[in-house]
Amino acid sequence: MTQRYAVIGNPVEHSRSPQIHAQFAREAGIDLEYGRILAPLGGFVEAVERFRDAGGSGLNVTLPFKLDAFAWAARHSERAAEAGAVNTLRFDAQAGEGAWGDNTDGAGLVRDLVERHDFALAGRSVLLLGAGGAARGVVGPLLDAGVGRLVVANRSPANAARLVEKFAARAVHPVCVRLDALEPGFDLVVEASGSGLRDERVPLADEVFAAATLAYDLFYAGAPTAFVRQARAAGCPRACDGLGMLVEQAAESFFVWLGVRPATEAVYRTLREALDAEHAAPRPRPR
Ligand code: NDP
Repeated sequence: MTQRYAVIGNPVEHSRSPQIHAQFAREAGIDLEYGRILAPLGGFVEAVERFRDAGGSGLNVTLPFKLDAFAWAARHSERAAEAGAVNTLRFDAQAGEGAWGDNTDGAGLVRDLVERHDFALAGRSVLLLGAGGAARGVVGPLLDAGVGRLVVANRSPANAARLVEKFAARAVHPVCVRLDALEPGFDLVVEASGSGLRDERVPLADEVFAAATLAYDLFYAGAPTAFVRQARAAGCPRACDGLGMLVEQAAESFFVWLGVRPATEAVYRTLREALDAEHAAPRPRPR
């Protein structure tokens, strides 16, 4: 029987998840249908329950509903509980009574860093810019991967302080500092404040980039993102966007739902080529 999944968000038409999961399913020989659900703001629960009651097996959850999904799920994985945000819901029989909520964002980032970019995290010093939904999801998995120091900096220091508080009991716990107090000394700089959406520079000194080994933007696009351009211009030896994280978090969701870990490299390459082609295509001229 065809299993039904979807991504729910607002907006959602831009989501690449249907293409990613269709390719995973084809390669794994699994009969799966994956769609998009545009839920009205304030209408998340109704849309989820309608999909579940119509026989849906699970959902990916994207902006702005990751906190609503956390509140709605009856049970959570440890990493979702720590993040306070859910990007993967399971309603099948194995999930038991009520829905199971998980968060695969951080696992996706860590796998992309370690496996695709060959960046070992153990003992490294990491700067995380941003304290929103994505940042919440990546802190626990970065600590689990053994980073030696994690600093969070955000436009609203109070939001960074709230995020950091949740991890205070960890042996290596994150600390927050003001953006204008950041000094060089990080191996990895992770951008999770959405600067790519605004095509804007982050308020970080060139010296911080120049002293780092890798700059990683969670945002992705067909052309180098504003953060990637800034990091390269400032002398950071390597800079990349978050397309790999997108594919890896999807693979982790696929595993959570179906118990199969799909190969990701071909999907990553297909998407990268599609993004590049979209960027290179001439835009239609207005008549
Ligand atoms: P949220 O809206 O939850 O968080 C946004 C964060 O950015 C907050 O910390 C906010 O700070 C900060 N921010 C917003 N506007 C500004 C601004 N004008 N100047 C400085 N800081 C600002 O977004 P997400 O955490 O969900 O997403 C963050 C980024 O991560 C996006 O680019 C998204 O595309 C990307 N992402 C990529 C994924 C992938 O798989 N590759 C997965 C998930 C997200 P404040 O606290 O002050 O409001």
